[in-house]
Amino acid sequence: MNPQKPYRDFAEFLRTIFPFKVQKISVNAGFTCPNRDGSKGRGGCTYCNNRSFSPGYGNPSRSVREQMNDGITFFSRKYPEMKYLAYFQSYTGTYGNPETLIARYEEALTCPGVVGLIVGTRPDCVPDALLDCFEALGKKTFVMLEYGVESTLNRTLDRINRQHSYEESAEMIRKTAARNIATGAHVILGLPGETTDEILSHAGTLSRLPLTALKLHQLQIIKGTVMAEEFRLKPESFHLFSPDEYVDLCVDFAERLKPDICIERFTSQSPKELLIAPAWDQKNYVITEKIVKRFRERATRQGRLYGQQPDEGVKGAVTSCNSSSAAHTSPAAAPLSPPSLHRRK
Ligand code: SF4
Repeated sequence: MNPQKPYRDFAEFLRTIFPFKVQKISVNAGFTCPNRDGSKGRGGCTYCNNRSFSPGYGNPSRSVREQMNDGITFFSRKYPEMKYLAYFQSYTGTYGNPETLIARYEEALTCPGVVGLIVGTRPDCVPDALLDCFEALGKKTFVMLEYGVESTLNRTLDRINRQHSYEESAEMIRKTAARNIATGAHVILGLPGETTDEILSHAGTLSRLPLTALKLHQLQIIKGTVMAEEFRLKPESFHLFSPDEYVDLCVDFAERLKPDICIERFTSQSPKELLIAPAWDQKNYVITEKIVKRFRERATRQGRLYGQQPDEGVKGAVTSCNSSSAAHTSPAAAPLSPPSLHRRK
C-alpha cells in the first residue's frame, strides 16, 4: 500500500499494470438480466432499478464502438496520452449468447487506445466456456470480472431476492482468480436486517477470497423498486446511515479488510430524481475526502485489524453469521481507534 494513503485505491493497482493513465468508459451493450427475465427470477433484486445507472434496458441507441468512441473523444481532448478500459457495467455483462457477448467485447477492444476490459456480472452467470474465453483474452489484454456479491449473508441475499448464495460468489471469485483474471466484488453496506457488526464481518469474510478490488456503497432506496415499497410500508426495518456514520463505518470496514485488496469505491449517488433516501446531497468525492480525513484523525489504515477478528469462518459467516462484536472489543482496537458508531444489534 502507498504509505501516503490510508487505503489501497484502484489507481494504485492500475499503476502496477499500466505505465500510463487509464480511464474506464462505461458501455451499455444491450445485455439483460436473468433475475428479471425469469431464467433465475423475476422482478430483479429488490433494490435494483437499473435506470439508476443505465440509460436504457437492453436497447442502447448506440453501438459499443460508438459509445467507446464517444468516451475516447471526450477524454482524449484533455488527456491525449490516456488509454482506456471498456467497462460493461449495465445489467449482467455475461448474460447472452456467447458469440454475441464475445463479439461485443472484441468490438470494444478494437477501439483505438483500449487496453482492457472490465465486465460486471452476477456470480452465477459465467459458464466455464465463457471463463475459458476470458482466460484466453486475459493472455492478450487486461481483463477483470466484477461480481455483484452484495452481502456475505445468505439470509440477506434471500431477503433482497438475489437468487444466488454467498457460496456461489466465493466459488466464482476463486475460479476466476485461478485463471489469472483480476476479480472485483460489489458490496452494499447497510442492507436491511444486517447489524453493524454483521456489516463489518463482511470485510473479514471477503478478505479470505482472492479479490483484486472491492466496490462499496451505502444502501440507497430507489424509486420504482420493491425495496421502495418495503421502505414505505416499514421504514423502521431500515437503518439508513447519515454521512458521518457512514464515513466511520467505511473506516471500520477498511480496517478489517486485507491490505492488498483495492477499495475502488466507498460510495455512490444515484440520480436525485430516482433517489428516495438517504438524501445526503454530497458528491462521491466529498464523502471519499471525509473518509480519508477520518482515517487520519483516527490514525488508522486499511488492514489494521485484518486477521485480528475472530474467525467467523466462511460457513458461519454465510449461513448463521451470528453477529460478532468481538472485533470491536479487541484490545488491539482500542488505543488507535475510538468507538465510532452506535452499534445496532
Ligand atoms: S442488480 Fe443486477 S442482477 Fe439484480 S436485478 Fe439489477 S441488473 Fe439484475
